[in-house]
Amino acid sequence: MTQPPRVVRVTLETGDPLRCVVCRDDRFEKRAWKLNTTGMEFAGLAWANRNALCYVCVKCRFIHWFDEDGR
Ligand SMILES: [Zn+2]
Repeated sequence: MTQPPRVVRVTLETGDPLRCVVCRDDRFEKRAWKLNTTGMEFAGLAWANRNALCYVCVKCRFIHWFDEDGR
């Protein structure tokens, strides 16, 4: 379930490089996490089970979240 992090540079769909909003570094550890919360499906909220692409800044550890299913 837990993959070893991979350090990447990210280009956004706008063509701009992703930079950390805190320290402006452009190197991130890429991780894929599930956004699902236990019990959501029972409540009819299956849309909550989404994949998140997460880029963790290697410098300050700020997490940048992207909704992968929205692409
Ligand atoms: Zn940072």
